[in-house]
Amino acid sequence: MTTIKASCSDCGNINLMADEVHIRICEDTNAGDLAFRCPTCRVTNVKHLEVRVIDLLVASGVSWSTWRLPLELSEPKPAGNPIDHDDLLAFHDALTDGVTWELALAELDAELGDASSSR
Ligand SMILES: [Zn+2]
Repeated sequence: MTTIKASCSDCGNINLMADEVHIRICEDTNAGDLAFRCPTCRVTNVKHLEVRVIDLLVASGVSWSTWRLPLELSEPKPAGNPIDHDDLLAFHDALTDGVTWELALAELDAELGDASSSR
């Protein structure tokens, strides 16, 4: 069976068997990482791999799996600045001043009335 030389963050250089490591490959970036638990100190290590090393390890029988980046990363970002503490205070004031909320509801009713009459 293939022996894999790796480096533990605590113990330094160690030798592992192919069934003691696992490769995770990102389908979106083709980046790959090697994950293993050190047989001496039991610390889990994750090391970035070059594509040619991934190919060699997979050909040697190392198990692998793929994953994808979260879909939220590809969502369009809203325009404008992020909401800050002052925006929250202004929103709270608008909800509790007894006037702004009623005006907003009246405007919404007017818009919905316009929308329903145009159908
Ligand atoms: Zn170790």
